[in-house]
Amino acid sequence: MTWYILGAGSLGCLWAARLSRAGLPVRLLLRDRQRLNAYRSLGGVTLVESGQESLYPIPAETAAQGGPIQRLLLACKAYDAEPAVASIAARLAPGAELILLQNGLGSQQAVAAHLPRARCLYASSTEGAFREADFRVVFAGQGQTWLGDELGGPEPEWLAELRGAQIPAQWSGDIIERLWRKLALNCAINPLTVLHQCRNGELAAHPAEVAGLCDELGQLLHATGFEAAARELQGDVERVIAATAANFSSMYQDVANGRRSEIAYLLGHACREGDRLQLALPQLRALHERLREYLRARGLPDT
Ligand code: NAP
Repeated sequence: MTWYILGAGSLGCLWAARLSRAGLPVRLLLRDRQRLNAYRSLGGVTLVESGQESLYPIPAETAAQGGPIQRLLLACKAYDAEPAVASIAARLAPGAELILLQNGLGSQQAVAAHLPRARCLYASSTEGAFREADFRVVFAGQGQTWLGDELGGPEPEWLAELRGAQIPAQWSGDIIERLWRKLALNCAINPLTVLHQCRNGELAAHPAEVAGLCDELGQLLHATGFEAAARELQGDVERVIAATAANFSSMYQDVANGRRSEIAYLLGHACREGDRLQLALPQLRALHERLREYLRARGLPDT
């Protein structure tokens, strides 16, 4: 069974390189002929790991052209997920399986709603990778990837195939709770690092602001039905701030590099869920507005 990968960026290339070197059939789906020509001129995906680089000449094609797709890894940003899937929807075989790697929440459900005949699995990953150049990716941090099905259903048998390819994948019976926990952590830390222009660890100097956000995010987790996540949030946030003290958050890096952020699927999603559940959440909403204003002032999309 061929692994098709849509989105040949950081995580897409990281997955593609490991599947390919394990001898599994994998194909990259690129946006258009121009990207395909650029890829071909480079001869493949370059993965840099512990300072060692290797070139993987993985076959590629445009999203518009090629045979039926039974298994797809969607590895684009959350805001690109719906149009990216629309570009290959006609190629999906009935009963196709998709792994949606997007951070935050909202994009996965939007994609799944367009594909009632496919099985959409959601992923939450703590692996880290970044693009040094086009189709050249640095594997920056070991981690785990949890996969699960919002609609239930069995663990796919190909999880073992992933582990055999050194992709540390685990099945999760509560993937929505995992995604919510990660979203809440992100909302308590990342926007503040952008607005205070600081590393994660420097948020220790703003304990009241962090605690106020944790309180409201806890209300949201509680109302969503994730009681343990609500109780544990403040401690989890403090631990992450201490453990990643020297790091710049992903949102900080996106904004610093003039890239679009995934705000709509993180803080934006939290505020939309707050509306749906009729929660006031004044500090979260004020943070959302301040962040949107900050992005607009820098000419970046605020959604
Ligand atoms: P990325 O490096 O920006 O890669 C996204 C790729 O998707 C780009 O190569 C982009 O193509 C491609 N793409 C977008 N729309 C497309 C379309 N219509 N057709 C074909 N290709 C398309 O992003 P990433 O860092 O891998 O992140 C992917 C998701 O994983 C995000 O939600 C992120 O938050 C999450 N995540 C990332 C990491 C990490 O360490 N990187 C860790 C955990 C979670 P172009 O190059 O042509 O623009």
